[in-house]
Amino acid sequence: MRTLLSCFVASLCVLAALVGVSAQPAAQADETRERWVIVACGHLMAVPGVAPMTDATLVIKDGIIHAVSTELDPGTFVPGAAADNAIIERVDLSESWVLPGLIDCHVHITSETSREGRLRMVIDTDADKAIDATVYAQRTLEAGFTTVRDVGSMGDAAFALRDAVRSGKVLGPRILVAGRAVTPTGGHGDRTHGYKDGIFDIPGPFQGVADGVAECRKAVREQVKRGADCIKLTATGGVLSNTAAGTEQQFFEDELKAIVETAHLLGRRVSAHAHGVTGINAALRAGVDSIEHGTYLDDESIALFKETGAYLVPTITAGKAVAEYAMVPRYYPPPVVEKALRVGPVIQGAFGKAAGAGVKIAFGTDAGVFPHGQNSREFGFMVEAGMSPEDAIISATINAADLCDLSDEIGTLEVGKAADLIAVGGDPRADVAQLQTVPFVMRAGVVAKGP
Ligand SMILES: [Zn+2]
Repeated sequence: MRTLLSCFVASLCVLAALVGVSAQPAAQADETRERWVIVACGHLMAVPGVAPMTDATLVIKDGIIHAVSTELDPGTFVPGAAADNAIIERVDLSESWVLPGLIDCHVHITSETSREGRLRMVIDTDADKAIDATVYAQRTLEAGFTTVRDVGSMGDAAFALRDAVRSGKVLGPRILVAGRAVTPTGGHGDRTHGYKDGIFDIPGPFQGVADGVAECRKAVREQVKRGADCIKLTATGGVLSNTAAGTEQQFFEDELKAIVETAHLLGRRVSAHAHGVTGINAALRAGVDSIEHGTYLDDESIALFKETGAYLVPTITAGKAVAEYAMVPRYYPPPVVEKALRVGPVIQGAFGKAAGAGVKIAFGTDAGVFPHGQNSREFGFMVEAGMSPEDAIISATINAADLCDLSDEIGTLEVGKAADLIAVGGDPRADVAQLQTVPFVMRAGVVAKGP
């Protein structure tokens, strides 16, 4: 039967060749043509922190920046290197400020806060999560975030979404996925808190739950095996886990070291969730690449940040959001309410202290703890805490790209990098609120939002 079928297909192909019909569908044929995009930029912040260019032209070939120039006429320029059948598009942003696509180093793209969060833990399937995640991803991209790092999710949905975006099936930002957060039994990342026995299998390293050096190594290897781009660990207790186990250190130092060494051995960066100062400092001593939240950091933490070169990922928006939700009756269970009211309001001050002391900052919000698409609220909180708008933009472009180990591809609009860019109506260095309404988004040379 198979032979008959393949003979039939082969004869069709021969027939097509004889009559000069292409067996390829039109869309597929287009994929093989060069695609050039010529973008007229009124003001171009190609490298945040460097003076913007005026009336600049970006030339993009197949999603990659081919040239950046103030000499070309974007209305008439035709790239000399373009093939005869190349597709050439023009985008007019001559009235706008153009800057690199924004990067959020801390999101949870497959989930979003709701009063039913604990119920949804036991009713949502991976398929439900994946479908929800496509909505969150599109909203995130349309808010100007062309890359996000998913630092902790359940099941396979985040991996599937990442791959679907990468292959162009779904519109969304480029996604780096950590898989399950590595956590001790009963730690912040153990998602079985407060449910009756038997609802969940007892979680192990595959679910990120690990005790002792051997299990910690195994948990990292499990996440990398299933496709993790980076590793997340929970060094301390956290706000939204339904346990009154506090917000101080939860992993021993040998466990932290085992996680970091295994991840680095396998070429993955490590981000550590940490509120309490004991866990912040232990994680920094173990060599993590970033501390997420950093709520109770002290002078020793600041010295350790500088010594190790680790980034602080602030997530001020999440702090503000959980403190607000905690005031809504029965939104969170009682242990969470206590922690949210205590921790939430402290994060912004910790950020201000660290940034003021020269700690490197990579932009991150914890979107999902509040609605996806509101990521840019973080810029306002950062500026309110004393950072200049320009430095806040650097944290969400150059610094975030560095933390994601993607500086060769994103973070600036230079030749050879991805054409991930946004445009806003006014100078965001003068008014950072411009970033809260982003009318134009391009990812990999494709217009995702705008005219
Ligand atoms: Zn988080």
